[in-house]
Amino acid sequence: MRLTPPAAPAPAAPVLLPGRDCSLCPRLAGFRAIQRAAHADWFNAPVPAFGDPQAWLLVVGLAPGLRGANRTGRPFTGDYAGELLYATLARFALAQGRYQARADDQLVLCGVRITNAVRCVPPQNRPEPAEIAACRQFLAAEIAASPGLRAFVALGAIAHDAVLAALGLRRAAFRFGHGAVHTLPDGRLLADSYHCSRLNTNTGRLTAAMFEAVFAALLERLAVEPGRPMRNLHGTVAPS
Ligand code: SF4
Repeated sequence: MRLTPPAAPAPAAPVLLPGRDCSLCPRLAGFRAIQRAAHADWFNAPVPAFGDPQAWLLVVGLAPGLRGANRTGRPFTGDYAGELLYATLARFALAQGRYQARADDQLVLCGVRITNAVRCVPPQNRPEPAEIAACRQFLAAEIAASPGLRAFVALGAIAHDAVLAALGLRRAAFRFGHGAVHTLPDGRLLADSYHCSRLNTNTGRLTAAMFEAVFAALLERLAVEPGRPMRNLHGTVAPS
């Protein structure tokens, strides 16, 4: 289905970004300092969002992986989760180029941005509630700076809750469920998926087909609802 051309978005709000040495989360700042001492050539800082500044879709993950985004400086880059995520985006023509697990691989996202609920790497991939709350301001700023956003994909329950909190919405009204697509009060859509981590794929909790189905369902919903400008590389949402 061919879509109407995107309308000119309203002016974006200035993006609030954490400083490289953000210390709002003392535990994470301490962990970051340890990694800087051990791996001086790694990024080791709050990982900024990546993708299309005119995005209609925001993919939200949990937090940088130690040897993934924390090392490379780009969300979902350098570990298994990125292989599945970027392959899936390419499958729907939402990414152009070849993902090579490096921040300088020239991969381009079309209509999509990717970020995390928590921007600094947490020990054992487990951010604490206070850290998620502290970093919420940066997720909210990312959303406010993208007035063309029409949908979110939340990778995991923590990302789901973080998106709702950033939008000022109550969790109880929108329960996380893999494959669910929620219509938010402002008409935007929130699609839920289990996180595309190696753990989830190794255990069979999430398969590549299940992950693709989340994006297919979201694109289908968006395509049939009028007045939702969106684009991929072809200006269409045909997923095959
Ligand atoms: S997780 Fe977010 S709020 Fe916490 S130290 Fe990092 S950038 Fe700052």
